[in-house]
Amino acid sequence: MNILQECQGVSRIAITGHVRPDGDCVGSCLALYQYLQKRLPQAQVRVYLEQPAETFAQIKGYDQIDSQCEDTEPYDVFFVLDSIPERMMEPAKKLYDKALKTINIDHHISNTGAGDIFWVVPDASSTAELIYELIDKSAMDADMAMAIYIGIIHDTGVFQYSNTSPKTMEIGAELIRYGFDFPRLILETFYQRTYVQSQVLGRVLLESIRFMDGSCIVSCLDRKTMDFYNVNNKDLDGIVNHLRNIEGIHCAIFMYQTDVLEYKVSLRSDEWVDVSKVAAFFGGGGHKRAAGCIMRGTFHDCVNNLSLHIKEEMEKTGGSDGR
Ligand code: AMP
Ligand code: MN
Repeated sequence: MNILQECQGVSRIAITGHVRPDGDCVGSCLALYQYLQKRLPQAQVRVYLEQPAETFAQIKGYDQIDSQCEDTEPYDVFFVLDSIPERMMEPAKKLYDKALKTINIDHHISNTGAGDIFWVVPDASSTAELIYELIDKSAMDADMAMAIYIGIIHDTGVFQYSNTSPKTMEIGAELIRYGFDFPRLILETFYQRTYVQSQVLGRVLLESIRFMDGSCIVSCLDRKTMDFYNVNNKDLDGIVNHLRNIEGIHCAIFMYQTDVLEYKVSLRSDEWVDVSKVAAFFGGGGHKRAAGCIMRGTFHDCVNNLSLHIKEEMEKTGGSDGR
């Protein structure tokens, strides 16, 4: 696919990603935004995303993000990055349906096809890595490189998870040649937490419960506790990784309440459990080692249902009872 050819001569282009945008979603959307603005200055380019975390405000174009999406005019080209159309923010979905051409760029293994042009590469570490490969490098500058770099570090846990390939590292090396302050970016957007975020992390770890002979762990934040600490979903990014890093754990679950009897579920695993299959069963998706879904019911119902499917996945790979 050639992005510029697909946008040749058009006047209105929109870009969006998934709800609760993470680093890869924000980084890849803003990198593409910068690229299109630079190469197609005559076109009107809009980015529709729910308000991302403040730490991403240093990415060029952050202040141009439209979280209201009140436009009703159809777009010539509508890009959906890091997501399937069903996972877009609601008002953007209406505009997507009206667009003359839709382009879906993603790396989720659970994305099985959407858009007039469908560019899904499950082997890619991140959507940002795909954007890097798709853009004409002569347009690249420090701002674009930084946006892509943020996308990659967030989806690879700073080049740590198994989705990191030699190519990912090579792209990382190319990107830091543009001279942005990458150690600061890694610290500020990935590792650093506010005091309250750290307190909530402490609560989550303290109240976690191991099950299935200690091979799985779950922890849940209810609305009351979130209100007590005055935290929202943006403050909870990365918590699940702390559960997954505990010795002996093959599958970690972090849940937070989104409504009465409704939870956002994050799943992380090692080679014993394909959590994309577990999440897909409950209407979500993701990758083999990192996936998510929304579940309805009590906390105990959710955990019981999840554990049945986790066990099934473990047995397939010879883990847990299938050892
Ligand atoms: P999370 O723990 O929600 O940050 O998600 C882990 C991974 O799964 C990320 O790559 C998400 O984009 C993906 N993911 C989370 N929820 C969903 C969903 N409902 N559908 C598809 N992918 C998801
Ligand atoms: Mn991603």
